[in-house]
Amino acid sequence: MRNIRKVGVIGAGTMGNGIAQACAVAGLPVVMVDISDEAVQRGTKALAGSLDRLVKKEKLSEDAKAKAIGLVRGSTQYADLRDCDLVVEAATENIELKLRILRQVEEIVGQDATIATNTSSISITQLAAVLKQPGRFIGMHFFNPVPMMALVELIRGLQTDDATHAASAAFAQAIGKTPVTVRNSPGFVVNRILCPMINEAIFVLQEGLATAEDIDTGMRLGCNHPIGPLALADLIGLDTMLAVMNVFYDGFKDPKYRPAPLLQEMVDAGRLGRKTGRGFYSYS
Ligand code: NAD
Repeated sequence: MRNIRKVGVIGAGTMGNGIAQACAVAGLPVVMVDISDEAVQRGTKALAGSLDRLVKKEKLSEDAKAKAIGLVRGSTQYADLRDCDLVVEAATENIELKLRILRQVEEIVGQDATIATNTSSISITQLAAVLKQPGRFIGMHFFNPVPMMALVELIRGLQTDDATHAASAAFAQAIGKTPVTVRNSPGFVVNRILCPMINEAIFVLQEGLATAEDIDTGMRLGCNHPIGPLALADLIGLDTMLAVMNVFYDGFKDPKYRPAPLLQEMVDAGRLGRKTGRGFYSYS
C-alpha cells in the first residue's frame, strides 16, 4: 500500500491548522501552505495555542508539544509540497479557487501522491475531473475542531481508485481518526442527516410549537444529544446552515430540503448566531 510519510495542507485556517496539528501530533512532518505570511502565522499561532491547551489539560506532554511544533513548517510556496505523499486541500470554500489549487498541486507532487479535499459541500467527482489522474483524488472530510473530533468521512468520487481509498483510510487511522466511507453525494452523510434535523427544529420554532429553550431541552434530554439543535445552529452559523440547506435543495431538487423561512429571515436580519452575538439565543 502507498505509505504516507509527509503531508501537505493547503490553507492555514480553522480546518487547515487543525489537520496539520493532528498529523504533527501523530509524528508526521507537515507543510502548511497559505497565501500570505500573516495567514501562515495566524495558523501556526492557533496550532500552538491548541497544543498549549492540551498540555494544560494534561492530554499532551511538553515534550510531545515541542516535537509536534517542530514537525510543522509554514510556507507561502506551493513548491514546498513537492515531496508530500498526501496533500489535503483545506482552503476557502469556493469551487473556482479549489479547481485552480488542485491543478497547481498536481503539477508539483509526484505521480504516486494522493490528493484530497476537505470541502463540505462541493462534489468530489467534479473536483476530481480537473486532474490528469483523477483516480488519486478523494474527499477527506474532517470535523471541527479537528483535534477533538474523531471522525473523518472518506468520500469516493466516481473516479477514486481503491489504492487511494486504502491509503487514505490507513492515513486517517494513523493520525488517530476513525474513517467512514461514503459515496459522493450532496452533504455526504453526517451533514445530510444533521442539517435537515436542525432545519426541522427551526420549522418547529417558526410554527410556534415550542420555545427555543424547550426544543433544545427536548432534544438534549429526550435524545441524549449533547447540545440542542438551535444552539448548535447558532454555533455553526446560520449563514452556513442556510448555504448547506440550499446545497441539498439545489442538489436533490427535492422540496423536503427547503430551508425554513425563519432561517432565511434570521440570515437577512444579520442574526447569524454566536459570531454576530445573536441567533436563536443572545450571546452578549
Ligand atoms: P478558513 O476561512 O478558516 O480558512 C481558509 C484558509 O484558506 C484561509 O486561511 C485562506 O487564507 C486560505 N486560502 C485561500 N486561498 C488560498 C490559496 N489559494 N492557497 C492556500 N490557502 C488559501 O476556512 P475553514 O473553516 O478552515 O474551511 C476550509 C475548508 O474546510 C472549506 O472547504 C470548508 O468547507 C471545509 N470545512 C469547514 C468546516 C468548519 O467547520 N469550519 C468543517 C468541515 C470542512
